Amino acid sequence: AQHVLSVVDLKTHFFTDAGVIKAVNGVTLSVDEGETLAIVGESGSGKSVTGLTVMRLLGRTTAKVVGGSIHFRGRNEENTDLLALSEKAMSRIRGHDIAMIFQDPMSSLNPVFTVGDQVAESLRVHKGLSKRGARLQAIELLRQVGISEPEKRVDAYPHELSGGMRQRVMIAVALACDPRLLIADEPTTALDVTIQAQIIDLLRKLQKELRMALIFVTHDLKLVKQIADHVAVMYASQVVEEGPVDQVLANPRHPYTRALLDCIPSRRDGDGNRRTLKPIPGTMPNPLSPPDGCRFHARCAYAQPECVAIEPELQVVEGKHVTRCIRWQELAL
Ligand code: SF4
Ligand code: MG
Repeated sequence: AQHVLSVVDLKTHFFTDAGVIKAVNGVTLSVDEGETLAIVGESGSGKSVTGLTVMRLLGRTTAKVVGGSIHFRGRNEENTDLLALSEKAMSRIRGHDIAMIFQDPMSSLNPVFTVGDQVAESLRVHKGLSKRGARLQAIELLRQVGISEPEKRVDAYPHELSGGMRQRVMIAVALACDPRLLIADEPTTALDVTIQAQIIDLLRKLQKELRMALIFVTHDLKLVKQIADHVAVMYASQVVEEGPVDQVLANPRHPYTRALLDCIPSRRDGDGNRRTLKPIPGTMPNPLSPPDGCRFHARCAYAQPECVAIEPELQVVEGKHVTRCIRWQELAL
């Protein structure tokens, strides 16, 4: 299949007074039509910055894309270099082809307009519907995202809805432009577990029905299993392991992925015994001065002197499964 989005060797650096933060440093990723790619990592790993770079939403910060490419293939099959687009052309892409939702829907919804107006506005701008047509379509979209009694809720203001409902409204706003790619950055992190599961189910259902490509950014490997086909594990601005979800989670080939799996409370080993919960010792390296060699070495239980001397490249484990660990073949993870 042709990739909907293809990111190659992307480098997004922040030029701060304290020095250069290489927030994304050589990231390569792709996602196909109807497929979900999860980007997983701790906060500060570069996963959100990767999403924001694709959307070109870092414009007014100290961030600069200093290397790499981002190609997007639209419905008409034309291949667009997103980094080469004018701001005007990019805002058209953001409206029509790629949508993004965030952790906190309150920050994206306008408190002074009804949710119906906000969904309808998106429909009017992107599909050129009449006022009346947009309202009817907005009600349908609210129904599609699982909002009950949408004929009534369409006139509610954001503060009148629960967090879960607001996130559904954000999804409706995103879907109003009929995107080919949806980037969801921690969309369920602020929600309680039950609502979280409902939103995950909803995203999965919509993604299959609409054959969207979905990039799901999360710190939670548990959710990856539920939603994604493909996973990229990020650590300290780099992808350290990537591949089909089943393969990576069943047979992790990077100690960091193993450590993330050990943080999941409900995980059981092959004998059905509960694994002891092991938090990952230490913290992410200072982004202003990343360590030599493998960036994970200070926290890695398997580190050897060579891990400090050699900067690991991504190596193929099998098929599309890759890891950035020089010792992957000898480790029993
Ligand atoms: Fe650990 Fe060395 Fe592999 Fe890095 S390269 S993950 S330090 S074993
Ligand atoms: Mg983030």
